Amino acid sequence: MDDCLFCKIGSGEIPSKKIYEDDQCMAFYDIAPAAPVHALVIPKQHISSILAADDEGLLGHLLAVARNVAKENGLAEEGFRLVINTGENGGQTVKHLHIHILGGRSLAWPPG
Ligand code: AMP
Ligand code: ZN
Repeated sequence: MDDCLFCKIGSGEIPSKKIYEDDQCMAFYDIAPAAPVHALVIPKQHISSILAADDEGLLGHLLAVARNVAKENGLAEEGFRLVINTGENGGQTVKHLHIHILGGRSLAWPPG
């Protein structure tokens, strides 16, 4: 999609601190980290939110990559959180599906 920030990051048009890439997805560090480790996993194809994600294989792959990013950033032992903000009440600001990987400190629950 032409005017989508994460499509441009996925294609390399906008630079990112890339962690992982394959033909289906990319993982990179969040530009405004909310925790000591804060990364995002995105599909390369434009999918506006999890509500529009029909490919269960791709969804499983994104989750597995998010898990691997957490492990590779040393978060497995103390724990971490995966988050998919969706829509207005969910706090989604970028309308391209992404999984947040947050860790490196104790995270409050419930979220604000
Ligand atoms: P959300 O609010 O769930 O839609 O998350 C969007 C996330 O994208 C926020 O945590 C932003 O800090 C992050 N973000 C926005 N622009 C960039 C960028 N250019 N590179 C990396 N992360 C970004
Ligand atoms: Zn997009």
